[in-house]
Amino acid sequence: MMSKKPEDLMERIVSLCKRRGFIFQASEIYGGLSSCYDYGPLGVELKRNVKEAWWEDMVTSRRDIVGLDSAILQSPTVWEVSGHVTGFSDPLVDCKVCKARFREDQLDSQVCPNKKYKKRPANDCRNQGFFTEPRQFNLMFKTFMGPVEDSASVVYMRPETAQGIFTNFLNVLNSSRLKPPFGIAQIGKSFRNEITPGNFVFRMREFEQMEMEFFCPIEEEPKWYEYWVQKRFDWYTKLGVKADKLRLRPHGEDELAHYSIGCTDVEYLFPFGWSELEGIARRTDFDLKRHSEASGTDLSYFDELKKERYTPYVVEPAAGVDRAAMTFLVDAYEEQEIGIDKKGRPDVRTVLHFHPKIAPITVAVFPLVKKDGMPEVADEIESLLRMEGMRTFYDQKGAIGRRYRRQDEIGTPFCVTIDGQTLQDGTVTLRDRDSMEQVRVHREELMRTLKERIANF
Ligand code: ATP
Repeated sequence: MMSKKPEDLMERIVSLCKRRGFIFQASEIYGGLSSCYDYGPLGVELKRNVKEAWWEDMVTSRRDIVGLDSAILQSPTVWEVSGHVTGFSDPLVDCKVCKARFREDQLDSQVCPNKKYKKRPANDCRNQGFFTEPRQFNLMFKTFMGPVEDSASVVYMRPETAQGIFTNFLNVLNSSRLKPPFGIAQIGKSFRNEITPGNFVFRMREFEQMEMEFFCPIEEEPKWYEYWVQKRFDWYTKLGVKADKLRLRPHGEDELAHYSIGCTDVEYLFPFGWSELEGIARRTDFDLKRHSEASGTDLSYFDELKKERYTPYVVEPAAGVDRAAMTFLVDAYEEQEIGIDKKGRPDVRTVLHFHPKIAPITVAVFPLVKKDGMPEVADEIESLLRMEGMRTFYDQKGAIGRRYRRQDEIGTPFCVTIDGQTLQDGTVTLRDRDSMEQVRVHREELMRTLKERIANF
């Protein structure tokens, strides 16, 4: 690993994301829209893989969790009852000198944007008396439903997906034959008018969440909380994130929402410090009870065996798709010195060590040269792999070493090269991204070998 400042590392990752088509600034040709990002051809695959891996772990591999896709726009009453209209706000302070805005509860990690003060901590500016008194700023985006823009037609863009799950608790219970303990999972966009967005896709105003509400009998709740904290931590390490860069941080009493009896964050050590990837929250029966009272619809459960009615307690693992995708990118990134180039300088390859389940492309197929029948065989092999469900890429231009390097930079775990020997004995070269080791495999054995390597990764 080359020794460079961590901030530079983040800049180099952002630059790679743009250069190779992972993530672009939204509305870039018009100067960009602050804190909004578009995912390019590779980024969209990365994000799909993150969501697929989460869905598989949370829904398709289990009997006790089902999925849901609720609307972004809900009745405004939902957000009044959940407490978001009055309580979903951050304390905002303005600097009277340079007009910058800060979240008062995050001054420790924020810096003054005024160049004159050379990235001075925002806390120093506060100590100088530059700041206004804090005011509460509601983070929900508002819009209007229908043609008339008056207060009666205000609707909110959801700031979390969770409420759509609570309001559908009874629908799911009645239609799915599940009984507590069971969960409802949802992936979808959420919107928050963040005061200080930043750090690339870490904090955006439009982002995607992966949330699951697990409804359980009250006495089982502590057990399930412990279970979900560990299970969510393990999800990241199973997909290749380095365990020593992850930690669990239980919230202090002062950080808890008023209805919550506990919360643990999974944090990752980003170049800008330890930061939250997801939170596992003990939401008690607060949401179901509030919605029961306000709507008049009884959202409790009758346990026929115990002959008792109760409102289930809820454990909620709430993660961000974008933060997870960014974690996989940052954690996988390496600049490796692998020798000396022709001019005697260090030869550095940039590589993303993605887990094959996360990598946008699983296998790239190359003819060694663009003649002698090699492109035809390569094309045939690539089509076969694609038809078997592998995410493939075909490239026949340029020196083979350069083609390998391009795949290393986007994290493709395997490359297959068709050469002169392939035409004689049917074997191809299989190159491994991480070890750069090359072995010959018969084309008939290729699919099986690849599947085996992915399973053992
Ligand atoms: P933070 O303290 O960073 O503002 P939070 O505790 O408010 O986050 P939650 O409400 O628990 O976040 O949301 C669950 C998850 O959704 C977060 O752990 C994060 O991964 C993701 N998330 C929340 N806000 C944003 C955002 N502005 N941009 C990207 N992801 C976000």
